[in-house]
Amino acid sequence: MNQHLRPEPVPFIDIAAQRRRLGPSIDEAVTRVLTHCQFINGPEVTQLEAALADFSGAQHVVTCASGTDALLMVLMARNVGRGDAVFCPSFTFCATGEAVALTGAVPVFVDVDDATFNMDVNSLKRGIATARKHGLTPKAVIPVDLFGQSADHDAIGAVAEAEDLFVLDDAAQAFGASYKGRRLGTLALATATSFFPAKPLGCYGDGGAIFTDDASLAQTLRSIRVHGQGSDKYDNVRLGLTGRLDTMQAAILLEKLKIFEDEVAARNQVAERYARGLGNVVSVPRLAGGCTSTWAQYTIRLPDGCDRDGFAAALKAQGIPTAIYYPKSMHQQTAYRDFPVADGGLPVCERLSDDVISLPMHAYLDEPTQQRIIAAVRGAVST
Ligand SMILES: *Cc1c(COP(=O)(O)O)cnc(C)c1O
Repeated sequence: MNQHLRPEPVPFIDIAAQRRRLGPSIDEAVTRVLTHCQFINGPEVTQLEAALADFSGAQHVVTCASGTDALLMVLMARNVGRGDAVFCPSFTFCATGEAVALTGAVPVFVDVDDATFNMDVNSLKRGIATARKHGLTPKAVIPVDLFGQSADHDAIGAVAEAEDLFVLDDAAQAFGASYKGRRLGTLALATATSFFPAKPLGCYGDGGAIFTDDASLAQTLRSIRVHGQGSDKYDNVRLGLTGRLDTMQAAILLEKLKIFEDEVAARNQVAERYARGLGNVVSVPRLAGGCTSTWAQYTIRLPDGCDRDGFAAALKAQGIPTAIYYPKSMHQQTAYRDFPVADGGLPVCERLSDDVISLPMHAYLDEPTQQRIIAAVRGAVST
């Protein structure tokens, strides 16, 4: 095939462009770790926790091995387990409900809002009633800030307070976003995030962090992070994990955090250009009042009658990748289909799983490339 006839492939996420921008700073940071050899609990871990606290406004930051561990560790610290119900949206990455099920508690799936894809508070209320009918004790709610947009934390917080639930914010996709002028990290008892490479703030492996203003919770989390450690290394006072973030990843994140605010601004510009170019042909994502987004994904909905597979194939033929987050909601997955769903069912989750599709999104998506994507989407929708 003639190379010149094939359109240049567009990356879905351009981690290489970010690395070029960071220049030698990442290499130097890694070399520093290779020199001091404190691969576990090195000075960069402490520095990163301080920098993340500063960025988010949270009083305590506990870094950990992944976003999944971040969720799990908070549930463990609060003794969530058998007989308890924890409410989470079904239209999310599986780790949200998985962390609940791993503790022995029951994830109760609730529906999401049609406009923001985030937790529907009325469905949450129905879910709490459903849990009680099943003889479960409502313990916690895990709102997800899906695709980078913060959930409606005031509304969820009000229900949680009335029902005596604690809130664990799953901000794995949205660290760096804000709600009513406050950055995520301080809007719940605890906030979990992930540094998986494809997240808006990613490292070069697995990593995560927990944010909280509760000093005693932070202390328990630090114990759980190291096998439930007590006063010394060989004193175990509770069950825990090997849940640490390694020093190398912390060193890399410290460099990436320096440009993160700028990258979030660039992602917002990309989102604005998509909205201008596509708003009249597909359903583009909308931000609720008071919410900002890190645009972890730019997820559109296709008009009625537009075949999603055909649409994806048309873009692929032009070198433009797409992805479906999520083709199944959690309650439709084999591993989770026996857990309860809120009364009234989850019609919005099910509809979204059928008609969403995500376009390339990253801070380094230049305007000519984006115009190519926009033209391809417009063409594919109209055929
Ligand atoms: C990525 C993600 C997680 C899990 O993070 P890992 O670091 O991959 O364990 C949890 N929740 C949501 C919503 C995610 O997108």
